[in-house]
Amino acid sequence: MSIKAYKYRIDASKVTAEKLQWVLDRARELYNAALAERKEAWRMAGKSIGYYEQKRDVVEIKEQIRPEYQDVASHVLQDVILRVKRAYDNFFRRVKNGEKPGHPRFQGRHRYNSFTYPDGAGWKLEMVKEPDEKRGRGRGKLHLSKIGTVKVKLHREMAGKIKTLTIKREGQHWYAVFTCEVETKPLPVSHEDVGIDLGVTHFAALSNGKLIDHPRYFRHAEKKLARAQQAVSRKKKGSHRRAKAVRQLAKHHRKVRNQRRDFHHKASRQLVNRYQVIVFEDLQTKNLTQAPAPKQDEATGQYLPNGAAAKAGLNTSILDAGWATFTLMVSAKAAWAGRSVVFVNPKNTSQLCSGCGAVVKKDLSVRWHSCGCGTELDRDINSAKLILHLGYQQLSGRTGPTPATA
Ligand SMILES: [Zn+2]
Repeated sequence: MSIKAYKYRIDASKVTAEKLQWVLDRARELYNAALAERKEAWRMAGKSIGYYEQKRDVVEIKEQIRPEYQDVASHVLQDVILRVKRAYDNFFRRVKNGEKPGHPRFQGRHRYNSFTYPDGAGWKLEMVKEPDEKRGRGRGKLHLSKIGTVKVKLHREMAGKIKTLTIKREGQHWYAVFTCEVETKPLPVSHEDVGIDLGVTHFAALSNGKLIDHPRYFRHAEKKLARAQQAVSRKKKGSHRRAKAVRQLAKHHRKVRNQRRDFHHKASRQLVNRYQVIVFEDLQTKNLTQAPAPKQDEATGQYLPNGAAAKAGLNTSILDAGWATFTLMVSAKAAWAGRSVVFVNPKNTSQLCSGCGAVVKKDLSVRWHSCGCGTELDRDINSAKLILHLGYQQLSGRTGPTPATA
């Protein structure tokens, strides 16, 4: 059994959104009150107040002290108490380990951004249209007791049994996060392995010669982001117009993030479905961030293009953002499916020949790998082949395919 989370955007009317915020404020208030109580007990007597004690107190709070809390689903309130308990469990565990952790913190309006229905009580999801790979996104209605009904955009299908529902606020938007319990199902063993070079020209080059391109909307989004960024910097600090431009920029960022996540999910799914061993470069050591050495023209002494500008642009590109997240997604899906992911040291993977092992120096601007041994191919695919080779070496301490591909 494994837990999987699905996050969907909520479409709430103004009135309902205000109610969501009201519940969130009550939850935060309760969190801080419960925290204060525990803190005081710890300070006064060095003892902790138990979870069950605090849970019982909630009943009293509702009945006698703050009747408006009756308008919040009771399991949501219990979950708040559980969050405080978790924060304290963590705190005590670290104290026990001899660490000096900070006390659990009071939560401000901007930090405390979600409340949770820990089980099936207090809400109901009604499918209006099931999401479908071919026919596009689905729609649902989420009924929240004492709050109202909101629309949910279901851009992908949920798997497994829904266990909890968390309502989360990000900026101006609300999201529903469902956690589902799913059975882990290993895929049948595949006899195909792959080395992958993540890049900017293509999203990924595979050792078998296939290329996965960036979705075209990434380039488009990149331009839009740049424009939104300029709009912010042109406006006067503290002005309303600037605040509006900042909101616009945040909106673009959010959109790009979501699009990228969807794309990453799809691409990682495809890779894991097909390949048994998947080899990536270890991105932390990937030398993309190192500036290339300056090159001078011998005759004139002038500096020649060395790909530095391309590299600088590339480092700020949205195209390279999220590679680490992508490899994490592949790793997670692979673990589920009984597949392997290997990370190798990327040193020299862009300069060696995958055919004969010779060094073939090339700038970033040279897209083609051409070697005296007769090896001719896209430079990124050449890298991908080397990456697969390194993966095999790492897996078995020897050269050659794994048993799965033999
Ligand atoms: Zn060669």
